[in-house]
Amino acid sequence: MTLSKLDAKAPSGPLESKWTQHKNQIKLVSPANKRKYTILVVGTGLAGASAAASLAELGYHVKAFCIQDSPRRAHSIAAQGGINAAKNYKNDGDSVWRLFYDTIKGGDYRAREANVYRLAELSVNIIDQCVAQGVPFAREYGGLLDTRSFGGAQVERTFYARGQTGQQLLLGAYSAMMRQVDEKRVTLYPRREMLDLVVINGQARGIVCRNLITGELESYAGDAVVLCTGGYGNAYFLATYAKNSNATAIWRCYKRGALFANPCFTQIHPTCIPVTGDYQSKLTLMSESLRNDGRVWVPKKKGDTRPPHEIPEDERDYYLERKYPSYGNLAPRDIASRAAKAVCDEGRGVGASGKAVYLDFSDTIRERGIEYIKERYGNLFEMYQHITGENPYKMPMRIYPAIHYTMGGLWVDYNLMSTIPGLFVLGEANFSDHGANRLGASALMQGLADGYFIIPYTIGDYFANTNLPKAAPSQSEFRDVRNEVTAKLRKLLSIKGEKTVLEFHRELGSLLWDYVGMARNAPGLQTAIDKIRKLREEFWNNLKVPGSNDMLNKSLEMAGRVADFIELGELIARDALHREESCGAHFREEYQTPDGEALRNDERFCYVAAWAYTGDHSQPELYKEPLEFEFVQPSIRSYK
Ligand SMILES: Cc1cc2nc3c(=O)[nH]c(=O)nc-3n(C[C@H](O)[C@H](O)[C@H](O)COP(=O)(O)OP(=O)(O)OC[C@H]3O[C@@H](n4cnc5c(N)ncnc54)[C@H](O)[C@@H]3O)c2cc1C
Repeated sequence: MTLSKLDAKAPSGPLESKWTQHKNQIKLVSPANKRKYTILVVGTGLAGASAAASLAELGYHVKAFCIQDSPRRAHSIAAQGGINAAKNYKNDGDSVWRLFYDTIKGGDYRAREANVYRLAELSVNIIDQCVAQGVPFAREYGGLLDTRSFGGAQVERTFYARGQTGQQLLLGAYSAMMRQVDEKRVTLYPRREMLDLVVINGQARGIVCRNLITGELESYAGDAVVLCTGGYGNAYFLATYAKNSNATAIWRCYKRGALFANPCFTQIHPTCIPVTGDYQSKLTLMSESLRNDGRVWVPKKKGDTRPPHEIPEDERDYYLERKYPSYGNLAPRDIASRAAKAVCDEGRGVGASGKAVYLDFSDTIRERGIEYIKERYGNLFEMYQHITGENPYKMPMRIYPAIHYTMGGLWVDYNLMSTIPGLFVLGEANFSDHGANRLGASALMQGLADGYFIIPYTIGDYFANTNLPKAAPSQSEFRDVRNEVTAKLRKLLSIKGEKTVLEFHRELGSLLWDYVGMARNAPGLQTAIDKIRKLREEFWNNLKVPGSNDMLNKSLEMAGRVADFIELGELIARDALHREESCGAHFREEYQTPDGEALRNDERFCYVAAWAYTGDHSQPELYKEPLEFEFVQPSIRSYK
């Protein structure tokens, strides 16, 4: 790695005009010339589908790749609660500035001001774009789009389509992309997994994919690669992510020279259905939107096993309302998660495991009726009942925190370009806008801002400023990468050990959850690093992958992904160990206020930690992007 320093390329000047000025100054590509460029978009969730549609609409040739049989099955479809936008339809004092401020504060002052302001600014365009596509957002009686509250905000700025917002937004982006498939400007490659990046003369020029049906390796050349491959929270095994979500594309780009930023900033969501047994493979989210109308509580007494309806009001502790009176049940996720863990650790958790708290709708049902709840959250209530066998209209839901989102990801500059020229990273796969803690309903906003409104400008500037000789899969660089990928696949199949990939994944997950989860400390993190290293050694000596490479082989797919998760797991722990402060979701037990809140250290850690790969068995090198706050003053983050 020969980077001398990280240049974020954030424009100077007043905050409100940075993006406009930037757009005015960057170079354009003429319509006739756009047709000469091919862009490889990897991932077709919200970030990827919106990018593919917008780039093709401009005239570029796009090749779009995804793991699933249809882009409509991307993990984005699971998003439930909503998408933020500073429209101020409720006339409750919202503004672009306020969304910007809430996001910066929500991220505990570990995000770049210029990016976050741009995100808030673009939020309003996203809603217009989606409405124009026909996304059926909920409406009020008068016809205006309805909004609700999400954590970390005192205004109602979250637009929603029942509890299926991601699905509806994805159908919008997918339709826009399919229009371009019909126009022959987007070619779709489903059931492909990108297994490596091809870098020629320092520029990202192609990818190597495995055809997941036939096992064949395929090479694709292009003028730029746009990664939209989502988050890496499945490293923890039990998580709210779709099972296919993985880190392989970003991890292999990291190994080709892209820096990985803030890997330890992983979000733990407070309202998930609790773990019920050792053989569970997935956790289910109950959307944060439920905290608009549900009240979180536990019994005041330790070890109180009475059913909830037998516990009188004055023997209940509505701990979020008690501890954070201004935000109450809508305290941000990191804070609400830690508070849930604290009451359970005290012995006041509920349910068989004692690792759950109540989310209770009885007051709202009494005041506003069941229909009100059904209209807003009907599908979430059904889902809860299907999974737990309990009727949440009649008794409180039981919830517990779980891994849900990753704020870390590949480092990108203001143009969303990684440290490899021509490799752009969008959506959850990049680290860009959420600092140490993402506010609810801001991931959809970011993925769509990146895809619909940012990349169409910044990629043009890259093309206009870059000499790009023709690249083709016949070049030796492609052949070399293909050979490396083949060798790795063969190696995975040849170990013929005793343990399945699922067993390794489960073990990694519990190490990460125990030592790099909601609370972290130096000895625990060092233990995690040592144990993950041992696990990695065992993996490469004792893995059992049945079947062969020339067929649909889920075990082989998972083996490659888990190999990457193990390496990434070590980096997550290493990053958490080096950051000797608490901020947002990263809670180091050694650094807390007397009342147990996160204690930042702005003097030493007000930077983005971006790690460079230096070899499989050597320590990564740390680069720092200092964060400068020109427009807001970092302060103690309080929601009291
Ligand atoms: C249950 C749940 C509910 C949520 N609810 C909300 C919400 O209400 N509001 C909100 O703002 N956020 C929410 N989020 C977060 C949000 O859904 C995600 O952050 C967002 O959808 C990620 O979009 P993306 O386009 O970046 O990635 P994804 O939707 O994860 O898409 C990734 C794409 O990359 C492809 N891919 C991955 N790896 C490869 C590879 N190696 N090769 C080829 N293709 C690959 C996949 O096939 C897929 O197409 C929720 C998350 C969860 C888990």
